[in-house]
Amino acid sequence: MSIVYFVIPCYNEEQVLPETVKRLTVKLGSMIESGIASPESRMLFVDDGSRDKTWELIEGYHRENPLVGGVKLAHNRGHQNALLAGLMTARKYADCAISLDADLQDDIEVLDQFVRQFQDGCDVVYGVRSKRETDTFFKRSTALAFYRVMKMLGVDLVYNHADYRLMSRRALDALADYRETNLFLRGIVPLIGFRSGTVTYERHERFAGESKYPLKKMISFALDGITSFSVKPLKIIANLGVLVSVLSILGLLYALISYFTGNAVAGWTAIVCSIWLLGGIQLLCIGVLGGYIGKIYNEVKDRPRYLIEEELR
Ligand code: UDP
Ligand code: MG
Repeated sequence: MSIVYFVIPCYNEEQVLPETVKRLTVKLGSMIESGIASPESRMLFVDDGSRDKTWELIEGYHRENPLVGGVKLAHNRGHQNALLAGLMTARKYADCAISLDADLQDDIEVLDQFVRQFQDGCDVVYGVRSKRETDTFFKRSTALAFYRVMKMLGVDLVYNHADYRLMSRRALDALADYRETNLFLRGIVPLIGFRSGTVTYERHERFAGESKYPLKKMISFALDGITSFSVKPLKIIANLGVLVSVLSILGLLYALISYFTGNAVAGWTAIVCSIWLLGGIQLLCIGVLGGYIGKIYNEVKDRPRYLIEEELR
């Protein structure tokens, strides 16, 4: 029997928590009863610095329900860091940990399939969405574009897998050695390797409350994914530089020929255009460089990625 920890990051989730705790208690209870999970298994709720009653609720459930544990982060550190905090806590007590969202959009009925694959020897089990019907057209197409771009840039991602996954203690120990501040877990986990499996499931609508991932956060998350895992944008700049240089040499030849054949016109337009074009390209390139330098800056500081204020067991 394995000690299974569910790790559930929560940010302002007071509206969904009661139902989530209820459903997960039933699920975990039945897994314990059928002998898949040991009675020491827990649901570990990570309060990601919520401003509402989320932590008070978790404390309350912890008092009355032996299966509920909690971790309170001192600040809002974002989904990925909250998840990491939970996984690193679970690693101390569990044989394996499964990460899932508080809104139960990920189908909890497949939880035992994760554990069974773990017991069959997988160190990582990816939850993969069978279809994306509940998503808007916009979200579906941007998600697809994102996977394409990542693939082009040489980043190994599991298609249609988000953060619904099981990791064994061994995999979690390995994850702990990835010290980066710009966290993009679904990119790091495939790098760890080990034997992996997949579980397919259907994703539901969020049943209460609203998404804590507005478009702005989604875009910055996607860009983070790219710049944390690929230096190809830097190479693209270099290629762009070569291209522009070649073009400018051709332009220079053209200008010289015009000059010697006596066709030279006072080229105000050309000058202005080239100033703007080159200025634009340079700014773009500097911006991309700045993105990476910003990351180096953050990594070099090596600040703690989360601080746990309180832990309930
Ligand atoms: N979340 C978090 N910190 C944040 C934002 C979100 O811990 O800063 C949690 C949130 O409580 C939920 C999970 O991350 O459990 C996924 O968020 P959400 O369901 O809002 O995202 P969506 O499903 O809309 O992409
Ligand atoms: Mg959600």
